[in-house]
Amino acid sequence: MASDRDIDNQGPTPDEPARRRFLKSAVASASAVGAAATPLAGLALEDPKAKTQTSGIPTRPFGNTGLQVPILHLGTAQRLDPRYDKLMHRSFAAGVTWFDTALAYGRGSSHRAIANFLTQIDDRKKLWLTSKSGAQSVSGLRAGIDQALAELGTDSIDLYLMHAVDDPEMLDSHYLRLGEELKAKGKTRFFGFSCHDGNVVELLNRAAETGGIDAILFRYNFRRYGDLALNRAIDACHRKGIAMLAMKTQGAVPKEIESVVEFRSQNFTLGQAKLKSVWADQRIASIVSEMDSVALVRENVAAARSEISLSAEESHQLNQLAAFTSGYACNGCKHLCENAVARPLAIAAPLRYLMYHECYGKTERARELYGQLPATARAFSDRELEQACHACPQGIDIPARLRRAREVLA
Ligand code: SF4
Repeated sequence: MASDRDIDNQGPTPDEPARRRFLKSAVASASAVGAAATPLAGLALEDPKAKTQTSGIPTRPFGNTGLQVPILHLGTAQRLDPRYDKLMHRSFAAGVTWFDTALAYGRGSSHRAIANFLTQIDDRKKLWLTSKSGAQSVSGLRAGIDQALAELGTDSIDLYLMHAVDDPEMLDSHYLRLGEELKAKGKTRFFGFSCHDGNVVELLNRAAETGGIDAILFRYNFRRYGDLALNRAIDACHRKGIAMLAMKTQGAVPKEIESVVEFRSQNFTLGQAKLKSVWADQRIASIVSEMDSVALVRENVAAARSEISLSAEESHQLNQLAAFTSGYACNGCKHLCENAVARPLAIAAPLRYLMYHECYGKTERARELYGQLPATARAFSDRELEQACHACPQGIDIPARLRRAREVLA
């Protein structure tokens, strides 16, 4: 995911037979169920019996809509093969019957690839679809869904999100009325927003107050469990029946930093344990994961289907990992560090792009995004960042990390 990637591909190693057995049996089971899967999106609300059927992946309530959705769905920010995308087909066959896309994904190519996929499976109802527009006006968002529907070759999507919202005014009544309008016209079944940045707590609290929001996609992972304000905001939304969807669940830092804690488990890879830790929170309806290899699809599907819970020891190891690597894990709370500097300066964005490069090898995309930042927002001196460092709850050495970003991305 994102651009919003959510990948931590750590396949089984030869010295871990128990884990391999678990993966093997779970994947075999997933494949078998997936082959006979009841398509989720076909679970029409008008058929109450259908609500209890599953797609092969366990399901949870989608807010208070009465609909069940799979706890894992596919993010498609990665480059998709427009003719025949193996990962989409493998995911779907394994029971992942919900794809998340956006106008901007794949530099605008994601929708077209999914349109071809829909033609190949030959039944729109078999797939749940989320799409998003980054437009910051009502008219732009209205045009965005029309463009999305045209590109996807469908009359309706299941969830339309305002993409990467960080302005609370986008929860004002005219935006919420747009959601009602699009639902009434049948262009989308549900409406909401995604948010990546520092005012997530404010946005969640506001959404719980205003109503009119069916779902929120937000950054959530094992690093955030001690965040009391965030927990209260999630509670407020959950109580109001908003479906809470998690992204960036891997909380990635470079592998060599992550290896400071050697994760040990009889049951899970580290990547699976991170997913399990999010699913342990019953307020989360589903995780979106950008699975960019068949191995990762297998791994994540196996984790979703596993009935084994994370043990206290495994949770403790994740807590240790969060503590030991916090200096490399930017949470995106840019209002803390960027507001501490006297002039507009980009901190959170270049650190995110650095993560794309260091953790996922997405250097080209990272350079492109870094290059789009205004030159003045990229320029900095160590001295003006002193207050920003004091404000950072993660203890990130901001000047050093920004220098690193400039070195590899400029
Ligand atoms: S550098 Fe620190 S304060 Fe700034 S966004 Fe990242 S985690 Fe938050």
